Amino acid sequence: MGNPTGFMDYERKEPGYRPKHERIKDFRAVEYEPAEDYIHDQAARCMDCGTPFCHAYGCPVANIIPEFNDFLYRGLWQQALEILLSTNNFPEFTGRICPATCEAACVAGINTAPVAIRQIELAIIEKGFEKGIFNSAPPIEYFDKRVAVIGAGPAGLAVADTLNKAGFRVTVFDEAEQPGGLLRYGIPNFKMEKWVVDRRIKLMEQEGVVFERGIIVGADISARYLKRHFDAICLACGARKPRDLSAPGRDLAGIHFALDYLIQQNKRVGGEQLTSSDEILAYGKSVVVIGGGDTGSDCLGTALRHGAKNVVQLEILSKPPPERSEKTPWPMWPLVLRETHAHKEGGEIKWAVTAKAFEGEKGVVKKIHCVEVEWQTKEGGSAPVAVEGSDFDIEADLVILAMGFMGPGNNSLIENFDLHLDDRGNVWADQNGMTSINGVFVAGDMATGQSLVVKAINSGREIATGIIEYLSA
Ligand SMILES: Cc1cc2nc3c(=O)[nH]c(=O)nc-3n(C[C@H](O)[C@H](O)[C@H](O)COP(=O)(O)OP(=O)(O)OC[C@H]3O[C@@H](n4cnc5c(N)ncnc54)[C@H](O)[C@@H]3O)c2cc1C
Ligand code: SF4
Repeated sequence: MGNPTGFMDYERKEPGYRPKHERIKDFRAVEYEPAEDYIHDQAARCMDCGTPFCHAYGCPVANIIPEFNDFLYRGLWQQALEILLSTNNFPEFTGRICPATCEAACVAGINTAPVAIRQIELAIIEKGFEKGIFNSAPPIEYFDKRVAVIGAGPAGLAVADTLNKAGFRVTVFDEAEQPGGLLRYGIPNFKMEKWVVDRRIKLMEQEGVVFERGIIVGADISARYLKRHFDAICLACGARKPRDLSAPGRDLAGIHFALDYLIQQNKRVGGEQLTSSDEILAYGKSVVVIGGGDTGSDCLGTALRHGAKNVVQLEILSKPPPERSEKTPWPMWPLVLRETHAHKEGGEIKWAVTAKAFEGEKGVVKKIHCVEVEWQTKEGGSAPVAVEGSDFDIEADLVILAMGFMGPGNNSLIENFDLHLDDRGNVWADQNGMTSINGVFVAGDMATGQSLVVKAINSGREIATGIIEYLSA
């Protein structure tokens, strides 16, 4: 610990966000990047606790947080970077978009503000690029083994990066025009600009990873072809089947799934050709986003930038408490009201409300009939019950369904590989990540269901270890 009284000497500060009136007019990143002197003081707040819960419990990739804080405080950027990269392949992604479960488990957070770990992580990697101390590091030599990774989201990229650095020849196939998965096509630019993804892909290419773009495995190339040409295969195709809302009027025009809306906008910002003639734009419209989670918040921010007349977000769950509740004591991830930067930009969120039916004119949605709900304890959990007489209508010319995801769905390659699924519809795997087919592994959301970027990276790292063991046997 560089400064034993740092946690008393300095307050937690954050680099902050661009002013609302300015950021709402574009899709550029909303958060400022951490400056060097800021990081010095923030790293000094780390207490180097006997049991660092941030590392051992909070961070899914187990970043060695107290150590990199100490190196940073002493100005030793190279050492801080090395220790960070020993656990996290892509800190430039997590440093920007991780919800920072580590900070919820920070010991300082028990009675004061936690250490600004996510910002420190971002500073280490960005200064690494800036100062030229982070460069491409191809393996010294390659084994005569080839691995195909299907899916270039964070899980597939972590598998590919880990295996390539260990000396295996890796080809990554993705059906999209550009690699990145949801990093590129799901997460809006205002949370992470895509040059961050491009820079990493370029680096991985320099290090020897081959990317095959625009190839649908299971349709353009088959499982049989891959098995013949590669010694092991890793599937990392995500979990994008959206939860639907079965309600009268659901088939009206103007009701879309969140990812269709977000992918289209990310392609528009990225200058990609849009394949659908049915563009989803919110300009001048009354927009209702059904689903109060992070995907819903991304849709809210996108609709505001499109120039929506107004945006309402409906959430079936009750409003969480403003402070950590007793049900989620430290160091657990707290059940607490979270206001994203998009919520601060505009719109309104209605809690404990559900949509009963859609009404339209000439086949296009115009209104949603809603009702308030109360959560009642029932056998095996709790369930929403409509509150009598609480019905109301909301105007809606554009409805976005952001109610979560239900596994990988009917991805063409599941049938093509003849994979077993688990009870939740995700691809089944043993403890080494191997599916029901010998030599075929699965990583990320495809195995766990929709989760977090940091968990996908962690899964990719673990599965790469399983593949190395398999290929070395
Ligand atoms: C809107 C949205 C916002 C999010 N925001 C955050 C956030 O802020 N922070 C956070 O931590 N997490 C966030 N998440 C979750 C996070 O993005 C995912 O958990 C993560 O991307 C999963 O990584 P993955 O590699 O398993 O899958 P994906 O990122 O989904 O990548 C799967 C890849 O497989 C490819 N693929 C699929 N089928 C085939 C096929 N048959 N042939 C070839 N290629 C195929 C796809 O094109 C895709 O590129 C968000 C998710 C969504 C939907
Ligand atoms: S990856 Fe996420 S949880 Fe881990 S140290 Fe970084 S911000 Fe914290």
